[in-house]
Amino acid sequence: MRFYTEDISTYLKEHGVKPSYQRLKIFQYIMENNNHPTVDTIYRALCHEIPTLSKTTVYNTLNLFIEQKIANVIVIEENETRYDLVMGTHGHFKCVECGKLLDIDLDINYDSCEELDGCDITEKHIYLKGICCDCKGKRN
Ligand SMILES: [Zn+2]
Ligand SMILES: [Zn+2]
Repeated sequence: MRFYTEDISTYLKEHGVKPSYQRLKIFQYIMENNNHPTVDTIYRALCHEIPTLSKTTVYNTLNLFIEQKIANVIVIEENETRYDLVMGTHGHFKCVECGKLLDIDLDINYDSCEELDGCDITEKHIYLKGICCDCKGKRN
């Protein structure tokens, strides 16, 4: 997913979000870094550039994105809420050493699960944990 700043503005408008400067910057940050940031990560990255920014603004903006279905919440650890702009079904791999969260192209066919027969699935979360290639390399 790649946008120019004008495109982000249009994209936000199309999804019922008024594209203020702060909202544009927050969306752009998540998109460009693709690092599934937390509120803190976004705040720390942008607070120098936008001195008027507060953690509450970041939090409220992310909630607005979620309401308008242009972002997703990922909770892997109970004390860590991260945000994602990739909306299609995909899994996540978290490195327990560096904390990096990677997207995995993973779509399981739940129709073949007997246990789910007759159930409606409303959310899918696939989380894997382990040690990423970079960290493995450093160990050896
Ligand atoms: Zn790692
Ligand atoms: Zn993701």
